[in-house]
Amino acid sequence: MEPIRVLLVGNGGREHALAWKLSQSLLVESILAVPGNGGTSTCPKVTNYSTVKADDYPGLVALAQEKSINLVVPGPEAPLVDGIEGYFRAVGIRCFGPSKLAARMEGSKTFSKDFMKRHNIPTAAYENFSDYEDAKKYLDSIDHNVVIKASGLAAGKGVIIPTTKEEAHAALKEIMLDKEFGSAGDEVVIEEFLEGDELSILSFSDGYTIRSLPPAQDHKRIFDGDQGPNTGGMGCYAPTNIVTKQLLEEVERTILQPTIDGMRNEAFPFVGTLFTGLMITRNGPKVLEYNVRFGDPETQTLLPLMETDLAKVMIACTDHYLSAVSVDVKPGASVTVVVAAGGYPGSYPKGTPMDVQTPPEGSNTNIFHAGTTIKDGQLQSSGGRVIAAQATAGNLELAVKKAYSGVEYIKFDKMFYRKDIAHRAFKPTAATREALTYA
Ligand code: AMP
Repeated sequence: MEPIRVLLVGNGGREHALAWKLSQSLLVESILAVPGNGGTSTCPKVTNYSTVKADDYPGLVALAQEKSINLVVPGPEAPLVDGIEGYFRAVGIRCFGPSKLAARMEGSKTFSKDFMKRHNIPTAAYENFSDYEDAKKYLDSIDHNVVIKASGLAAGKGVIIPTTKEEAHAALKEIMLDKEFGSAGDEVVIEEFLEGDELSILSFSDGYTIRSLPPAQDHKRIFDGDQGPNTGGMGCYAPTNIVTKQLLEEVERTILQPTIDGMRNEAFPFVGTLFTGLMITRNGPKVLEYNVRFGDPETQTLLPLMETDLAKVMIACTDHYLSAVSVDVKPGASVTVVVAAGGYPGSYPKGTPMDVQTPPEGSNTNIFHAGTTIKDGQLQSSGGRVIAAQATAGNLELAVKKAYSGVEYIKFDKMFYRKDIAHRAFKPTAATREALTYA
């Protein structure tokens, strides 16, 4: 195979983990990260490039042609929903990611809910609305707990879980009338609140075959004990022991494969990484959402467990021969602890000087940068979720200990992190226990 020259789009922790893993591939010659961050630039083979903006798709195509790129890897959802894949398809450059049509599975929650209904994929009962008065009437007519979701992309913030009817009405008004999330709130999904434990499954697909990484569990809330507001994710561990092998097989059979088959049969086949967010309820697993790209911090947690060459798997997806490639995973567990700037997810300072040491070679500990940048030779914070420590070990208890030791390599003023990552592994909810018994 021709040496692979990668164009990696994005600047988060996910992209640092992708750069780290791709740089280990013997197939990969070089990686251009647009714009990358303070961590991607430290990976072998990687050059950060910020002259072309990450959302200037014609500019990215010109850059890719100039640099003889033969694999484009968009990290975040926005370029995929915008249709970045089509720009590269038009000039014959491989893009590891879904088409604009397929990316609607993340870009529109009303679309993905209707897709699940058409294909009998288990999910929370729901109604879609584009008219505020209709949505209001519906809310008044029901007496179960609900979740209210802005349909469009809202940087992970468009989901509100009200605890009273008044809060539900307030949320609906904020989304649909006050346009808190802009046009993402033109349509809303009002769905049944599901109880249980959450699970993320990242799967590679070439449109036909699906190959999944071990199930992971993110920690969305800012404070220990899953308290406080939602965040982009404060930590993650994998594999989770809250699902049995049988339950995973059920997920594959009733959710993942039907999703890939349904998308292909509806003429928007899925190529790339499908992220399926699941709730394990008393009545079995149900889909909370689809994302059409790698998750963050799931990627930082899962790629260190992946044995197989990532570039090889990506090409098998873009060139549609994934059935001939296995995705092997190392034994043991992986844990990521996200370190945020004090104040996040509210307002927080940027430009805080940072002192970050590199863990010793062979320690199976990594520091993945997210919101960092290098200014005048000094590493600084540039985002809310700033950096993460990740560790792999023979079992989950050891991996947790090691990841927290990894946090000691990171120092900056007012840094903040959760102290209880992976706590749910050690005490699943009643709903999950019942689901496991049922499985
Ligand atoms: P989503 O972006 O749709 O996954 O929603 C973000 C978060 O809201 C999820 O990770 C869950 O923690 C929570 N959530 C979403 N839908 C539901 C639901 N139907 N029941 C309970 N929690 C939910």
